[in-house]
Amino acid sequence: MEVYMATLVAQPESITEEFGPHLSKSTGMRLDPGVVPDKIVETHCCFCGQQCGIQLLVKHNEVIGYEPWYEFPFNKGKLCPKGVKRYLQGAHPDRLLHAYRRDPANPHGFSPVPYEEAIKKVAEEIERIQKKYGPSAFASLSGASLTTEKTYLMGKFARVCLKTPYTDYNGRLCMVSAGAGNKKAFGVDRAANPWSDILKAEVVWISGANVAECAPITTDYVWQARENGAKVIVVDPRITPIGRTCDLFLPIKPGRDVALFNGILHLMIKNGWIDHSFIESHTVGFEPLAAAVEEWTPARTAKITGIAEKGILQAAEWWGRAKTSFLMHARGIEHSSHGVQNVLGAINMVLASGRIGREACGYATITGQGNGQGGREHGQKCDQLPGMRDLSNPEHRAYVASVWGVDPAELPEPGVDAYEIIRKIDRNEIRGLLSISFNPIVSLPDNNFVRQALEKLEFYVAIDFFLNDTARFADIILPGSLQEEDEGTITTAEGRVIKINKAINCPGDAREDWRVIQDISHALKRPHGFNFQSPREIFDELRIASKGGIADYSGITYEKIERQYGVFWPCPADEHQGTPRLFEPGSWNPIAKGKGPFYFPDGRAHFNVAKYTPPAEDPDAEYPLMLTTGRVISHFLSGTQTRRIGPLVDQCPDPFIEVHPMLAEKLGLKEGDWATAESRRGTVTLQVRVVRTIRPDTIFIPYHWAGKKSANQLTISAQDPISHIPEYKVCAVRLHKAEAPPV
Ligand code: SF4
Repeated sequence: MEVYMATLVAQPESITEEFGPHLSKSTGMRLDPGVVPDKIVETHCCFCGQQCGIQLLVKHNEVIGYEPWYEFPFNKGKLCPKGVKRYLQGAHPDRLLHAYRRDPANPHGFSPVPYEEAIKKVAEEIERIQKKYGPSAFASLSGASLTTEKTYLMGKFARVCLKTPYTDYNGRLCMVSAGAGNKKAFGVDRAANPWSDILKAEVVWISGANVAECAPITTDYVWQARENGAKVIVVDPRITPIGRTCDLFLPIKPGRDVALFNGILHLMIKNGWIDHSFIESHTVGFEPLAAAVEEWTPARTAKITGIAEKGILQAAEWWGRAKTSFLMHARGIEHSSHGVQNVLGAINMVLASGRIGREACGYATITGQGNGQGGREHGQKCDQLPGMRDLSNPEHRAYVASVWGVDPAELPEPGVDAYEIIRKIDRNEIRGLLSISFNPIVSLPDNNFVRQALEKLEFYVAIDFFLNDTARFADIILPGSLQEEDEGTITTAEGRVIKINKAINCPGDAREDWRVIQDISHALKRPHGFNFQSPREIFDELRIASKGGIADYSGITYEKIERQYGVFWPCPADEHQGTPRLFEPGSWNPIAKGKGPFYFPDGRAHFNVAKYTPPAEDPDAEYPLMLTTGRVISHFLSGTQTRRIGPLVDQCPDPFIEVHPMLAEKLGLKEGDWATAESRRGTVTLQVRVVRTIRPDTIFIPYHWAGKKSANQLTISAQDPISHIPEYKVCAVRLHKAEAPPV
């Protein structure tokens, strides 16, 4: 197949020389024990969806270190390796201090320009493109690491200022299968329980979640549950660190999770391990589901999933007989062309057990990105308005339009997902793009195609604090803000709204992201609705815009968050304390209004037949292996931050290919050899790690690296038909020994 090689403005090495990644290490004030900080700021880690509390030490407008924040109840001072090194991203040599324009005459590819001039150029290009091709020829892509205030602003900016339907976010690569499944089953998209409910559960079931590396502090909850007597069941193609300490490990073939869930439900029904009274009183749709899982006998389930029948029977018995339980899943089941079916299969098991909506009886999806939860609630998704409102619902449009002071008819209709935006760019239907804190050239699958599409843009502006790998293709780069340079809210994996506090000011010409967006709207002479003076003002408007919606923040204030160490939404009134556990009798529910615990008009949860289909691309004679991708503990997502933090790079400098000893022997590979993995879309040559913790028919590559080291050169852009999440967790590859590393 043809592999496109898009042209960068300069040699990659020259761009790297100027913009990094360079490594930040502890030096100067950071190493001097005699330095007394000017202030200590209680805030949160900038990385994953756990959002651990941390105290940043600040001296001379520089973050010089950290201290544990023992009082914050989620992590009680504990931090993972990324958390303890996060302070090293401040005062970093790669920090963007100026705006830049693409400049082929500059050996590094970009030349600094005055900020105002860059903003003017952005506005001129938006005007030019929209005048020539129409408003929808300009798109925006934003990130789920941004504060909720910024994500709210990005949704509003696309609809009110740009007037384009084409806006989406990188949670499309993370949380959307879970979100869609939760809404179909429960009517609401949030973890049903706080993590404290894990501790007292009799059985903890973890599917497709490399908890110890991707959500490290959750490990502590699981281990405490185990200390309290819980049985821990882990389902994964790899024996990840949490798998090494579980009671039952089920080594599933990638992409077959719904088959396992259906098989467990089959056994629950057959053995009478279901809660008839709960099903009768609080659900609909059980009969067709029971009929559908009849065919999922242990023998068939074992054949499809690759798990021994004995393991399936044991898991069903432990899950079926438990009095209390907690089921968690993450991208392992969600990054799939049938991710929503996988999620529904998991929820069916929970609902059939009746163990939800009470203490120690829980269900949650573990968010990945820092604001993976809040970032999917208030309008930066292509089909969504604030408060988890629906852009295609006339009542919702009318309400939000009234808050924004615009005619509902002016709001664009729902757009398309982030990958489809890239396809539209490739087809020249979209000519201009603004991205903020999104690095699609690393994080989207089949990234040779993404690179080819980006080069077709007439104009691309990237807002970020480091020059991420995609911003290297930009015409204009605008310097945005680090998490510690602004304040705002984030909603954690638990559904707890927490407060990020400002520790330092933006350096150089860099601006808080919300100011950058407002500056563009003013330069466009479209300032209506973009005159906020602070994140607090944005939050106050968000509270009104979310009022009456499912994700109702109207009773949340910055002060209440600080007083309570976070507020769980929904929180519909000033006197309301928030809702740590959803679906409890009497808990606030704007849809059922007292008729029942779930967020449907009749208050009942929905069972859904979860259909099994094989992955979009299964192994065959030509590509006989399965590739699965994921994270390592030292890095975060596309690596824009962590590939710049020295100690984290020292821990894991490069990606690798995990291979089982049996496969290694068959292919003549040994530890440290170079090997080339090939799919129908690309190739990658990396060093081999021979491990007994992976299925022999599967290889694993972590995805945090760019260019020739990128795992997403191999992955497939097949998407779930409902959530549009790409299938990162399985595609067909072949593997062979390489003589040397790639040049
Ligand atoms: S678990 Fe997540 S939020 Fe906590 S310290 Fe680690 S990366 Fe940061």
